[in-house]
Amino acid sequence: MSTKNERFSGPGPDQIYDDFLKKGVFSLPKCQDCQEFHFFPRVVCPHCGSFNLEWTAVSGKGEVYSTTTVRRKPERGGNYNVCHVTLEEGPRLMSRVEGVDPLDVKIGDQVSAVIKNDEDSSFIVFVPAQGV
Ligand SMILES: [Zn+2]
Repeated sequence: MSTKNERFSGPGPDQIYDDFLKKGVFSLPKCQDCQEFHFFPRVVCPHCGSFNLEWTAVSGKGEVYSTTTVRRKPERGGNYNVCHVTLEEGPRLMSRVEGVDPLDVKIGDQVSAVIKNDEDSSFIVFVPAQGV
């Protein structure tokens, strides 16, 4: 026996997030009560507890909040960057910056999001923002 809760029926927030990325849209839940975005996507606003969320495309613009270089031998793919990026809209996510030497990524760098597609998943990475 199970009870059905309409609030939690249908695809979960992770699935919706992935579906948007597969369509080429970087979208996050925005609370319609407090106007805050959040990440990871949830069914309840972590800022005010509201269920009144709406998926909203974000600019993809962000700033490097923290950065590190994971060192790897060249034959295993070479060094790569791991960072936290604070989006213009507020949420912070873990990702990586590509297109520059990982050691050149600095806190405060302006970056923009790019959607990457693997065989079975889509995810966000960042590249240095143009024109700054
Ligand atoms: Zn809220």
